[in-house]
Amino acid sequence: MDKVKKTEEEWAKELTPEQYRILRQKGTERAFTGEYNESPGKGVYRCAGCGNPLFHSDTKYNSGSGWPSFYAPYDPEHVDEEEDHSFAMVRTEVLCSKCDGHLGHVFNDGPQPTGLRYCVNSASLKFDPDES
Ligand code: FE
Repeated sequence: MDKVKKTEEEWAKELTPEQYRILRQKGTERAFTGEYNESPGKGVYRCAGCGNPLFHSDTKYNSGSGWPSFYAPYDPEHVDEEEDHSFAMVRTEVLCSKCDGHLGHVFNDGPQPTGLRYCVNSASLKFDPDES
């Protein structure tokens, strides 16, 4: 995948302060406050930084966590995973493979068919409704 590279100054100019804090500084939005915790409908969730398709509404489910949750990515090539040791925990961070933006974390307590829970910040996503 061709990478989108921008300076921190450029990102700060393009993104809202909340998007910048999450995507570029690995922040987390407060639970139950995000725009997409409740599903807006059928469509594709793109990266708010670069437009890369990250998740489809068909894989979204209500995890009760307060963050948008998906059991699979749109395409495994569109997300990167990295071990995250912050806050005295071992978690798997999920990033946009195109712009390296922080999305959230993936856990092993999701529903079938994958058993995975991609726990994602609404602020790192931009919903693209399927009008057809
Ligand atoms: Fe991106």
